[in-house]
Amino acid sequence: MVLEAKGDGKKKLKVGVFSFTGDEGCVIVFTELLNEYFFRWRDLVEFKYARVIQQKNVVKDIDVAFVEGAISGFKEEKMLRKIRRNSKRVVAIGSCAIDGSPSNHRNFFDEQTTREIMPILRKFPYRKKVSPLHEIIRVDETVPGCPIVEESFLNILNKYLIEFGIVGRDSNEKGGKQ
Ligand code: SF4
Repeated sequence: MVLEAKGDGKKKLKVGVFSFTGDEGCVIVFTELLNEYFFRWRDLVEFKYARVIQQKNVVKDIDVAFVEGAISGFKEEKMLRKIRRNSKRVVAIGSCAIDGSPSNHRNFFDEQTTREIMPILRKFPYRKKVSPLHEIIRVDETVPGCPIVEESFLNILNKYLIEFGIVGRDSNEKGGKQ
């Protein structure tokens, strides 16, 4: 079934795509999905923030923020809190964002190794612990996987397209797959 915009089709879901500590594998999956979905999403989604695909980005007035990666630095923590303040929904995408792993290895270093890396942590500065999103902000939804499962991402996106009144309820089928 094709996703059909409601009304005059001018209302779009305002989406942010953010990346923190990880290997960006989840955002790469999102980028690859654009090969198939770009023309369908064009009339339904406005990207307020997605550095992977555009240069002009703002963290303001976002309906749904998709956030990849764990939080390892203080700058990241500050940015994450800003995203939460400016987004109606926050979705943790991928296991780094959901539970910290695999980007949280240093949390499990022995005492001596932790002492050895301390100057690096202080220099940049990094947080003492690498944290998943939910330890810092409220998270509304998760998309599991390392990297994310495409179908789960599409289902969540479709759910919000319906919830925010961008498409009709009948369109609820695998992110608009035909
Ligand atoms: S969850 Fe996996 S694929 Fe996604 S950013 Fe983390 S390491 Fe990369």
